[in-house]
Amino acid sequence: MRRFFTACCGNVLLVTTALVALMLTGCPFRTSALAAEAPLDTLQIAVSPLDEQDPRYAQPDVEISRKKLPDVQATVVPQPQAPSRPPRLKHPLAGDWHFEEARRAAAAGDGAAMRENLRRARSIEPDNPRFQWWQADQALRKVDTPTLIQVVPEIARTLLASAVARGQLIIRLHQASLLATTWFWTLLVAALSLVWWRHLAHDLSALIFKNRNHPLRTMLPLILPVTFAALRPGWLGWLALMSIPLLIQTRGRQRALLVATWVTAIAMAFPAWPALRLAPPTVDPASEVTLLAEACRQDPSGPISERLRQTLAIAQDADRRARLQVALGIQEARRGRFADSDKLFNTVLEHDPDCFAALVGLANNTYFRGRLDQALQQYQRCRQVHPERGEVCYNMAQVYFKKLFIPEATEALELSRELSFLVPTHMDQKTRQMAYSPVVYPGLSNESLLAACAFEAVQYPPLVTLATWENLLGSPPVPLFLVLVVPLIIGVALILLWSRQNDPRECENCGVPLCRECCRVREGAWLCPTCGETASRSRSDHVLATLMKNRSRDEGLRGIARVVRLGRLVPGAGHLASGSFAAGWARLALASLGFFLLSAGWIIDPGNRWLSPGMILPQEVFSLRWLPLPAIMWPGWNDLSILAGIGLVLLSWVIGVLDGPLLHRGIPERLSWAPAGSEKPTAAPVTPKKPAPSAGIAVGPGLKR
Ligand SMILES: [Zn+2]
Ligand SMILES: [Zn+2]
Repeated sequence: MRRFFTACCGNVLLVTTALVALMLTGCPFRTSALAAEAPLDTLQIAVSPLDEQDPRYAQPDVEISRKKLPDVQATVVPQPQAPSRPPRLKHPLAGDWHFEEARRAAAAGDGAAMRENLRRARSIEPDNPRFQWWQADQALRKVDTPTLIQVVPEIARTLLASAVARGQLIIRLHQASLLATTWFWTLLVAALSLVWWRHLAHDLSALIFKNRNHPLRTMLPLILPVTFAALRPGWLGWLALMSIPLLIQTRGRQRALLVATWVTAIAMAFPAWPALRLAPPTVDPASEVTLLAEACRQDPSGPISERLRQTLAIAQDADRRARLQVALGIQEARRGRFADSDKLFNTVLEHDPDCFAALVGLANNTYFRGRLDQALQQYQRCRQVHPERGEVCYNMAQVYFKKLFIPEATEALELSRELSFLVPTHMDQKTRQMAYSPVVYPGLSNESLLAACAFEAVQYPPLVTLATWENLLGSPPVPLFLVLVVPLIIGVALILLWSRQNDPRECENCGVPLCRECCRVREGAWLCPTCGETASRSRSDHVLATLMKNRSRDEGLRGIARVVRLGRLVPGAGHLASGSFAAGWARLALASLGFFLLSAGWIIDPGNRWLSPGMILPQEVFSLRWLPLPAIMWPGWNDLSILAGIGLVLLSWVIGVLDGPLLHRGIPERLSWAPAGSEKPTAAPVTPKKPAPSAGIAVGPGLKR
């Protein structure tokens, strides 16, 4: 009854609605004509909300597929004309834009915006080393271990795959390690000069005054740094000159450390390392390598094409011509001039039939002109030659989609993902609405860019990346390498030629520096003038032993006070003086790392745009002579590397101050020399000399207690 009533009501409503519609529109024929013209996509079908379908009403499982359809010989899209400008997967600057937004957000302290923009930038350009480094840097600051673990392998992969990324990193690392070595060397020279100050003073006075009694003049070693600075050899040159007297003075592990630091600096200044020679074109904005990389990446641009054509006109080398033709071919294709582009790609393929960029570019051009089957054949050929590249599969998928071959398209997409070709997730609306979906034009291969680097690198002077450092590191008009090597050769020659290398250098009673001229030899022991006179004046051996012991103790106490003072003045110097080499080395390294971070850590940040302090304009630095660092990059005092640098420097000095009592304990007490026959007449005679293990307060070879 109820159902009947509902049906009746429905019928009545339907009829009434039809009548009203007729009355409103007037003519039923006109209405039907309009309805026929209505677009198909306005048709709406009510979807049943039911999830489960009754098996009784299920569609019969009839095998209908396009395999049963007649074979299609050629697929040509109904729209015959090619797009005037082929669509692109991503805007070439979109990644940079999001990256800059992320940096701005990070500077403003907006963590959420920073993460979102960085995520987008990374998804648009997953291989951009700048984005990767900056992400690693941010993860490091926030102690975000999962992100760090994820991004570090990506950085390694990019470095292996991209010659340009590698070149830029090598230049940064070179500059950073050269600066760090220079700082360490500076502190080492300072520490060693203080440790050997009294010996330097004695030797200089012996050299200058040339008389028998040349008393120690404490201020004399100041002549050395002042004289060497007056020669204006630059920072590294000054260090090399200062190291000559220290090389002669030091012995054992101290000398080894000095030589090792020196040799490291020489290695850094060596101009012909192959990796370093190849790197400059990757950072020079005017280089051909940059031109090629930009031409493959950017939208078509008049100046870029013009430069490519001009270079192509003068290029003789076949490989170089092929590289330029690939870049120009990609530019022409992006401009929509597919015929010109094809011509260039075909020329390249005559020279190198396996050139990946040309093979794919040619197939892409065919696709954009609507010849889908021919394009598919060309992609298949690419797949045979380069089965490892995911870009080909992705491009093939677009052709399959255009042909409405959905299973093949999906399969090709899957394959491209398996071959780790990542499709950017953010495609703009305009690109989606175009008649052709975008395909990838791969740029020049890593090998081609490496060859381009090798071709162009010979035109750069050696160590050009240190151009702005020149004033600071070495002013003389000779290569930095010679500025460092020549003093080392002079130092080694002096050591080899100097016949007195093995003479005792300290009084065997009190440890005051002496030499062959000023010493008094008594019973085979070399004594300083004071001790020698005491020995000659005293009548009895007992008195002599007491006097000697007193003087030895006085000098020993003074020596200990000096070592403690040294430790507070330069971190590590006290330990070097007292003979604990490893502790001294560690303190020096800590302090020099602090100075390095403070002075240059903020420039070596690899997330920054390429602005090497060695390769910027003179106007952009703080001061060309004294501080050739890029002023525009100064991050402010609250930057992480500057805070870390200040922290390390302060820490090393705090350790130096706290070290005092410990240093005291580490120094063995000075033992006195006394005439061999005085106390133990049967004892063997004292061995006349024994090189001191440490400096400053050398432990004399006295009698056993
Ligand atoms: Zn003495
Ligand atoms: Zn002397």
